[in-house]
Amino acid sequence: MQFFKAKPLALLVAILFGTALQLCAADIAKTGDSAVLPVKDGKKAAFLVQFDDAHASQIPVVVPALKERGMVGTFYIFNRKELTDKKDEWIKAAKEGVVHFGNHTYTHKYTQNSFPDVETCDEEISKCNELIKSLTPDAQWPRIMPYARPGGKTPADRGIGEKGMEPVLDKHHFFVRPNFWGASIHVKTVDDMKRIVDRAVKNGGMGHLDFHGVGKKSSINVTCPHPRVHPLCDYFPLLASL
Ligand SMILES: [Zn+2]
Repeated sequence: MQFFKAKPLALLVAILFGTALQLCAADIAKTGDSAVLPVKDGKKAAFLVQFDDAHASQIPVVVPALKERGMVGTFYIFNRKELTDKKDEWIKAAKEGVVHFGNHTYTHKYTQNSFPDVETCDEEISKCNELIKSLTPDAQWPRIMPYARPGGKTPADRGIGEKGMEPVLDKHHFFVRPNFWGASIHVKTVDDMKRIVDRAVKNGGMGHLDFHGVGKKSSINVTCPHPRVHPLCDYFPLLASL
């Protein structure tokens, strides 16, 4: 189910990077030997490490670990104190290319896309876009933007739902990320995480794993008394396996 839903995103990534590669190749390959690659730089597979909600641990723990390994994370943000308190750090991390932002609505209030009407949906998404713009002042706009619906217990059929918001998603050039597949929620051990990575490599496709925070609150000096609650113990082995 998860990998079936990931296909449109994988195709989008392939189209984007494939086009770029063709353009680059045109300058140097006059014999017509350019090719569209399914994954950037001809790598075997793509793996997305994603983080929701601008959790307080992301700037002090998650971002340095990614940076150290030369990796990029996708961060689905909404407007909250944990984000605005560290605005300068987020701007710096985005500028360095470690952080790629995704839209997670402005308030995170309308869980499961339970917007009461299209206008509210548009406002929630537009204001989050403005927030992302303020964190990426040098970025071009409009651009293709990943979107993640806020999770929560609201029944999926409340409000306009997924179908009702499609015109808003199109208007803002969004693609919806694959369904949340959470570390410590759906995937409970490091071995299970590595199996997702191995499967992506074997299939030559795309895998992903989604986190909120790692570690205990914002502390870097954290132990892991219970990895299911504080998946820091899972995070670093996952990165090491990529
Ligand atoms: Zn969320």
